[in-house]
Amino acid sequence: MTDAHADDEGAAWATDVRAALLAWYDLSARDLPWRRTRDPYAVWVSEVMLQQTRVDTVIPYYERFMARFPTPERLAAAPEDDVLGMWSGLGYYRRARMLHRGAREVVARYGGEVPREPEDRRALPGVGRYTAGAIGSIAFDRPEPLVDGNVARVLARLRAIDTPLGRGDTERALWADAAALVRGERPGALNQALMELGALVCTKTAPRCDRCPVASRCEALRLGRGGELPVPRARRPPRRVELVAVRLGRPGEVWLTRGEGALFGGLWGLPTVERGPGERPVDAAARALGDHGGVALDPAPCGTIEHALTHCRLRVTAFSASAASAASPPAGDRRARFVRLDALAEVGVSALTQKLLALTAARPGPTAAGEAPRRHGGSRTPAGER
Ligand code: SF4
Repeated sequence: MTDAHADDEGAAWATDVRAALLAWYDLSARDLPWRRTRDPYAVWVSEVMLQQTRVDTVIPYYERFMARFPTPERLAAAPEDDVLGMWSGLGYYRRARMLHRGAREVVARYGGEVPREPEDRRALPGVGRYTAGAIGSIAFDRPEPLVDGNVARVLARLRAIDTPLGRGDTERALWADAAALVRGERPGALNQALMELGALVCTKTAPRCDRCPVASRCEALRLGRGGELPVPRARRPPRRVELVAVRLGRPGEVWLTRGEGALFGGLWGLPTVERGPGERPVDAAARALGDHGGVALDPAPCGTIEHALTHCRLRVTAFSASAASAASPPAGDRRARFVRLDALAEVGVSALTQKLLALTAARPGPTAAGEAPRRHGGSRTPAGER
């Protein structure tokens, strides 16, 4: 086949697939809250929330978030705790912090208007090629391609791309096909049609080729390879991490610290440390409490929890401790505080913290009869020992 012939074939393929996708999308698109607007900020918020998260889960979060922070200015002006609180339970909290930083930059540099130029959008914190393409095509009607997991699956099957996802040559081929398709009218609808096809028809485990609008142009279907494509990316086995967490309570309250590092990323949670090699869990628990004074640590663990993150599996052993009612955080420490149990929803706590709070709820501290508290640090008398 000559280059010119191949170009003609490619153009004809793109024209056919575009037309079929748009016609199907007009009939089949789900009515989702973020599809009722073309406000670039709303598109941005929805696309960030939808990363790694199911549509059904996102809908109530999106609606609450937009009601509370309807503009970049409102989001930029909010304290980070408020933003993380609204994100609480949605996971992948780095997304929320980057969105918050992005909104601040939009206000500071662009007067609160999400920039139209793709290079400016991609320079915003947390905005990669995918999110920039979603905002550009959906909100600004620009022919900017995007490739997410759904689109990669659809395109890999349509074109029978049989190199592993995530590899350079695969990514280049996927983005080139996405760019070829998005050229033309209604680029935002076209991109959303590709994503919708991946979500509803060309699904991961059971593609419904008999209901597919682009079946006649699908190379994987022609070759009988729909079930084996795309070739998944090579993954390393997840790292196992042993943690110890302590619920330090006093009546009606629990002590929370703001986590640092990739695992905890600025969220409020129980004092938690990684167990050292050969370290006894109870010693790690005492270490987690640091130099907090007036604390009685129950040496018997409350239990353990397994929790999976993207790149690691956590095994967390939980302890409980009680604090004297007069105990207070060190003066000026903004990374630790007692939080009322009925106000937990207002601070950003992770799903892991929620699980740990549930696990330790029955034993909020060594105050029950018969428990032998282990004195830890400080000189105040723990409530449970009086
Ligand atoms: S024909 Fe089947 S494999 Fe091909 S795009 Fe449609 S649903 Fe996917």
